[in-house]
This record gives sequence, structure tokens and C-alpha cells, in this order.
Amino acid sequence: MIGGFPRSHTLSFERTATSVQSSQFMRQVILKVAGSASFSGFAHRYGRFLGARRFYAGDTLDEAIGVVRKLNSENICVTLDHLGESVTTAEDAASQANVYVDILHAINEAKVDANVSIKLTQMGLDVGREECLANMLRIVAAAQETDNFIRIDMEDSQHTDATLAMVHELRKTYPRIGTVLQAYLYRSQNDLALLAAAGVTVRIVKGAYLEPSSVAFPLKSDVDQNYLRLVDMALRAGQYVAIATHDENIIQEVEGWVRERRIPLDRFEFQMLYGIRMARQRELAQQGYRVRCYVPYGTDWYAYYTRRLAERPANVFFILRSLVRS
Ligand SMILES: Cc1cc2nc3c(=O)[nH]c(=O)nc-3n(C[C@H](O)[C@H](O)[C@H](O)COP(=O)(O)OP(=O)(O)OC[C@H]3O[C@@H](n4cnc5c(N)ncnc54)[C@H](O)[C@@H]3O)c2cc1C
Repeated sequence: MIGGFPRSHTLSFERTATSVQSSQFMRQVILKVAGSASFSGFAHRYGRFLGARRFYAGDTLDEAIGVVRKLNSENICVTLDHLGESVTTAEDAASQANVYVDILHAINEAKVDANVSIKLTQMGLDVGREECLANMLRIVAAAQETDNFIRIDMEDSQHTDATLAMVHELRKTYPRIGTVLQAYLYRSQNDLALLAAAGVTVRIVKGAYLEPSSVAFPLKSDVDQNYLRLVDMALRAGQYVAIATHDENIIQEVEGWVRERRIPLDRFEFQMLYGIRMARQRELAQQGYRVRCYVPYGTDWYAYYTRRLAERPANVFFILRSLVRS
């Protein structure tokens, strides 16, 4: 064992160190280029040729509910996300909150197995804490009315404190609210201990934003090891945990723990993103694991799409190749 993980696991990290560093570099380049106004304009115009559609369910709620039905028929449950973030006016934030109220009612009426994932900057966190709280309370009322669960997504590290504070605030009104912790942040083990003590269920992810080394592990191998440590901590704390990753090493490690420690399958769920490793999602569901697919929909796909490209630079080459061919 090295650092609490089997030797084979650690060695495979070492073998891939060079390729990992270059993919980390590519990730930073992609996120930087994506942030530039000229690339953003180009991508918005030609998005459908760039393969963006593969990662989201459609433009409308009806299309999204259709996708939920199909996934449910394969024993995969869903968390729905209405695309959009970094909203800058109170009016836009309020109308985004209305959309989530509609989503919760649509899930209830369609009798499908789905909950919602929400970004607080979409609900006006950067406009003002009070506006955001008021919007969230309306969504919470709809969740209460329809007996559903809300997951608050985690955004960049500038918003971590405000997000966690909002989760605690909202749970005073309605307890079926969970959040997300990112394994790339040094602080996440501390945050997990605090959330576990408060009984908050957590989704664990690696982290999708460009963060400085002052707050986040620069090396992927450290992020991966911290990821397993966080999942282990959450399971040992008796918390229900959402293990959100496409990383086969991690999935297999968790499967091993489940067998060795006889962890009941209703103590956790695997989560993956729509459009990524769909065959593996089906396979895990067939094996009896609870699997939840994160399904985004809506017209504001750009920021979400560029994070998906940055996670896997091979996606960029795939797109460039199809552009050249078309
Ligand atoms: C359900 C869910 C919810 C999430 N919520 C948040 C959130 O709230 N906040 C946040 O910061 N991040 C969130 N993320 C994103 C997360 O932080 C990672 O950026 C993302 O999951 C990629 O990391 P990975 O764990 O899959 O591992 P990686 O090591 O990045 O990938 C492992 C393997 O998965 C496959 N893969 C990964 N990404 C892609 C891709 N885009 N296209 C094709 N194949 C891919 C590849 O085979 C890759 O080798 C979420 C992810 C999921 C699955």
C-alpha cells in the first residue's frame, strides 16, 4: 500500500505522469482559449458543427423529459440541469429560478425518476446574496411540494464559501438539499468533515475549473488520490455519497471496497455526465448499482461544453478532424 492505496494503482499513476502533465497543460490552454471573446463568438455561431449537442439533451424541457424517460427505462436515474451560469441581473436570475420551479413540477407530472442540479451563480449569487436566497427559497418550496431533492453544484473556488453557507441556510427550511465537493481543492477534506457532521449528502467530483496551485492540487495523481480519500471518508462517516466520475480506476477501486467491506448498494450512487461513457452507465445499472446521469438542457451550452472539452483534450482533436472532413 502507498498512501492508503494499493501499489498497482499508484504505479499506474507514475507511468502516466508525462502524458498526464501534458493533458493538464492542454486543459489549461483549452479553458483559457474558451474564455476569449473571439473564440466564444466563433463557437456560438458554429456550435452544432463542433459537437456540442452530444453533451446536452436538447433546447427545451420537453426534450429533456424525453431523455429522462429513455434513461429511466434503462434503470438510470437522472439529475436535470438547466444550462446557464454567471447571471448578472436580478431579472435574469429570477427567470432562471422560474425555470427550475417548472422543471420540478414537470418531473412530478411526468412521474419520472429525476432530481435537479443547480448552480448558484445562475440564481444570482454574483448579483447579491439576498436575491439568490429569495430565488432558491422559491425552488426549495417547489421541491418540498413535489417531494424532490436539490443538489447545489460547486463552481470555481471564489464561490466555495458562499455556496456552502447557502446550503446550510437552505437546509434550515428543507433538509433534502445536498452539494458537491471537488477533490482538486486542498480544503475539501475539512469541508467534508463539516458537511458529514451536519448530515449533508455530498457528490464528489474531481473539479472542472481552472484553479491556481495556491488552492488546488496541480498534479492529477494527487487529485485522483484525494478523490478516493474523500469517497472513503464519506462512506466511513455513514453518509450517502454520490461518486461522480468516469474514471475507470476509481470505479473499480470503489467496486472492490463494496465487495470487501460489504457496503450496501443503497449507501451510494455512481454519477456520470450525459454523453460520456453511456455504455458503462448502462452496464453499472445492470449490475445493480444505483446510477444517475447528469442531463443538461437549454440553449446556454457554451461554458458547460468547454469544460467538457478541457477534461479530455482528445475531444478537441476529434472535433477538429470532423471539421476538416465536413
Ligand atoms: C455527475 C457529475 C456532476 C458534476 N458536477 C460538478 C460540479 O458540480 N462541479 C465541478 O467542478 N465539476 C463537476 N463535475 C465535473 C468533474 O469535476 C470532472 O471535471 C469530470 O467529471 C471529469 O473528471 P473524471 O472524474 O471523469 O476523471 P478524468 O480523470 O478527467 O477522466 C477519466 C476518464 O473519463 C473519461 N472522460 C472524462 N471526461 C470526459 C469528457 N469530457 N469526454 C469524454 N470522456 C471523458 C475519459 O475516458 C477519461 O480518461 C461533475 C461530473 C459529473 C460526472
